[in-house]
Amino acid sequence: MKIDRIETFLVPPRWLFCRIATDDGVVGWGEPVVEGRAEVVRAAVEVLSEYLIGADPLRIEHHWQVLSKGGFYRGGPVLASAVAGIDQALWDIAGKAYGAPVHALLGGPVRDRARVYAWVGGDEPGEVVDAVAAHVAAGMTAVKMNACGRLAPIPTPAEVDQIVDRAAAAREALGPDRDLALDLHGRATYPAARSIVSAVAEVRPLLLEEPLLPEHGARLADLVASSPVPLATGERLYSRPDFLPVLQAGVAVVQPDPSHAGGISEVRRIAALAETHGALLAPHCPLGPVALAASLQVALATPNFLIQEHSMGIHYHTGADLLDYVLDPEPLQIVDGHIRRTEAPGLGVTVDEAAIRRADQRGHAWRNPVWQHPDGSFAEW
Ligand SMILES: [Mg+2]
Repeated sequence: MKIDRIETFLVPPRWLFCRIATDDGVVGWGEPVVEGRAEVVRAAVEVLSEYLIGADPLRIEHHWQVLSKGGFYRGGPVLASAVAGIDQALWDIAGKAYGAPVHALLGGPVRDRARVYAWVGGDEPGEVVDAVAAHVAAGMTAVKMNACGRLAPIPTPAEVDQIVDRAAAAREALGPDRDLALDLHGRATYPAARSIVSAVAEVRPLLLEEPLLPEHGARLADLVASSPVPLATGERLYSRPDFLPVLQAGVAVVQPDPSHAGGISEVRRIAALAETHGALLAPHCPLGPVALAASLQVALATPNFLIQEHSMGIHYHTGADLLDYVLDPEPLQIVDGHIRRTEAPGLGVTVDEAAIRRADQRGHAWRNPVWQHPDGSFAEW
């Protein structure tokens, strides 16, 4: 079996799909993308395809080594995301070739279902309560929301109180038996993060995400030491060497994205690295059905998995949603806050290729918002 064709599809709302076909008819799908830089990753996949055409698709690890290291320059979001989507597609091909789900090829499932959380949008406490109540009614056991919007470098007491008020409203609606995750989205400076971790302790969050930007990682160990709540990070880290210092700093939860951090192969190794530090895995996944399916395969086979993100119905999707690109939504259906294990070969989802080809004709030019502080200077989004 040889790889004979690699195509990419730029589809709304902001994704890129990759289709790898073999000469004996087996096809695998992946999602190589950096949100807001999809066209750049598409070009990277095209360059990497030169090496893959004619190669044996089942040599996944060897290809990962060559694609990640063989260009001399290595690392960073664009290359690691291009490799990630290719890696997902190769695992999909391997599963279909061997007639087994990817979790079986990773050593077999360690659980029957993967716990997922739902996203909560809304800025006002009242909106938060309504959104949380809807998720609770749907059987969700955990939700996540942004802790705040644009944040001053050193927030006023009122700004910090507003963060606590929104989180407390969510906690009230959840009750003590469900979990609340808060995402700071890299919007806080170190002093801001210091005051926020203390202030939100009263709502007892499951985790506080991206309390600092990756480039402020030198302060992470200090923040962990002073934080009464579990800290999580990793959606903007791309490899084991990127994750090692945050694990040494003592984060409780790592959040590699299987479409950014080198795919199933590298996320699996990051999870093992986390396990040796007593840390848990919560894969980042605000992307499409193939990325979610890849995340779930890792979740099902990884002992230190905690919880899975998904983007179904998320507030910022416009023009398309995750289930628009699959023929059968059943493998991604959420029941009692969990997605059940599938035994279908490969990644376990059947994409709607015709819908993907049509959507690629529309394409997208998604860019993340660029925020400003009141004085006109750049603010983190
Ligand atoms: Mg996040």
